[in-house]
Amino acid sequence: MSETESGPEADEFDSEAEIDATSSPDVSVEYPLQVDGLRKTFGGITAVDDATFQVENGTLTGLIGPNGAGKSTTFNLITGMIKPDAGTVTFNGDDITGMEPHAIANQGLVRTFQIARELEDMTVLENMMLAPKNQRGEKLWRSVTPGVRNGVIEQEEELLDRVWEVLEFFEIDHIAEEYAGNLSGGQRKLLEMARALLTDPDMLLLDEPFAGVNPSLEKRLLTHIHELREQGYTFLLVEHDMDLIMENCEHVIVLHQGRVLTEGTPEDIKSNEEVIEAYLGGNV
Ligand code: ADP
Ligand code: MG
Repeated sequence: MSETESGPEADEFDSEAEIDATSSPDVSVEYPLQVDGLRKTFGGITAVDDATFQVENGTLTGLIGPNGAGKSTTFNLITGMIKPDAGTVTFNGDDITGMEPHAIANQGLVRTFQIARELEDMTVLENMMLAPKNQRGEKLWRSVTPGVRNGVIEQEEELLDRVWEVLEFFEIDHIAEEYAGNLSGGQRKLLEMARALLTDPDMLLLDEPFAGVNPSLEKRLLTHIHELREQGYTFLLVEHDMDLIMENCEHVIVLHQGRVLTEGTPEDIKSNEEVIEAYLGGNV
C-alpha cells in the first residue's frame, strides 16, 4: 500500500497546484537523465554500443544520427521497452535500468506512443481518459481522496478537469468528441503528446514527432514544446530534419553506430567535420 493513501499528509495535500496541466515539474537535479555505457545487441547487430550522455534539466536536447544509428533503440532502453545488455540509466538520481515502462513513467519519464489501432474507434476524450491508467497521475489523485467510494468519483472528476486542461493547452478541446481515427497526422501527434502529459511527467522523449505533420501544425507542436520547456519540462527529441534541430535545440547529441560521436551547441555540431563525415559517408 502506498504511503500517500492515508495519513495527515493526504488531507493537507494541495491538489490544485499538482494537477495544473501547465505547472512546472519539481525537478532539482541538474542532469535528470544520465545514460552510462548503454549497450544492446540484436543477434549480430550492435544497435547501441557504449552510449554515454546526459540531458540537462529544462532543455530541449536533440538526439540525431544517420538511419540505424541506434536512436530509437536508445529510447526503448531508456523507457524500459527493452532491457540493455550493459550500462545504466539514471533518472532524477535513481537507477531505473531495466525497470518496467509503467514504473519508469511513474518516476516522471515518458515517451509518446502512436495511437493504437483499437483506440482509433474511440473519441479524443475517451483516449485521454484512458491515458494515465496505473500511472503517476492516478497516484496523485488517489492521495487526495479520503473515502474509497467518494474517492473514485472525485478521482474521475479531477481526471476530467485535468483532461480538459491539457486538451485546451494543446488547442484540441474542440475535437474532443471526434474519433481518433479521423484525426489528421498533426492532430494525432498533438493527442499523443497530450496523453503523455497526462501522466504528469518531468521529462518527455519524442521520437520523430513531426513525421507526417503539415507545416502549420508542426509549428504549433513546436510552440507547445517550447512553452512546456519554458515551464521547466525537459525534452529529448529525435528528428531527422537538421534545420529543425539546429533552430530549436540548445544542445545536440550525435549518435553514430550506437555511440556518441560528439555533442554540443548547434553551432558546434554544424561545423564539426566528423558529423559531416558521418552523415555524408553514412547510410543517410
Ligand atoms: P535509428 O532509430 O537511429 O534509425 P534503430 O535504433 O531503430 O536506429 O536501429 C539501430 C540498429 O538496430 C539498426 O541496424 C536496426 O536494424 C537494429 N534493430 C533495431 N531494433 C531491432 C530489433 N528489434 N531486432 C533486430 N534489430 C534491430
Ligand atoms: Mg528510429
